[in-house]
Amino acid sequence: MKLILLGAPGAGKGTVAKMLTAIDGSVQISTGDILRGAVAAGTDLGKEAEGYMKRGDLVPDSLIMGIMEKRLQDNDCKKGFLLDGFPRTIPQAEALTELLKKLGITLDMAVSIDVPRDVILDRLCTRRTCANGDCQAIYNVKSNPPKKEGICDKCGSPVVQREDETETAISHRLETYNEKTAPLIGFYAKTGLLKTVTGTSSDAVVAAIKSSLGI
Ligand SMILES: [Zn+2]
Repeated sequence: MKLILLGAPGAGKGTVAKMLTAIDGSVQISTGDILRGAVAAGTDLGKEAEGYMKRGDLVPDSLIMGIMEKRLQDNDCKKGFLLDGFPRTIPQAEALTELLKKLGITLDMAVSIDVPRDVILDRLCTRRTCANGDCQAIYNVKSNPPKKEGICDKCGSPVVQREDETETAISHRLETYNEKTAPLIGFYAKTGLLKTVTGTSSDAVVAAIKSSLGI
């Protein structure tokens, strides 16, 4: 399958992507992963990207598109790919449309994973992470609490709520998402590629995507 996955933080894009890759061997592609990959491989584009990243600057779209072009032609993309967190903006979506046309690749769908706001808030506000940087085990105070409250089962370090997972921070992240990324939903609706999937569980989302793909 060849999909773009759109969805707010906490909509479960990562979980859904993992479940979908297991179906047909498609690969999950995120901007962060391919940038790190290009830097590690020491390609010309990777070296250029590294310069921006070291300065703490955003890597320009033209460079990201160059790296994306190479990545989409790798052998493991032949079975399909799931773009996770890319494109993020309308200019990136336009550039991606051009790139796919150039490479002769046809997308199946742009899937918008639509999870009710209260479900996202509940999902992220109840998440706790082990404070030990080498462990970072993830818990959930409701569905998967550590055996001893506030203490990591694996390493005994304190289990904390991340600063970006408090209710205030999550509300802010959702607003930013709505402003910047939600316009992409309109973009893909116009191209006829949009499929909106509403679901409160990743299993339900995956089942709906499979049924739209006829698999
Ligand atoms: Zn731990």
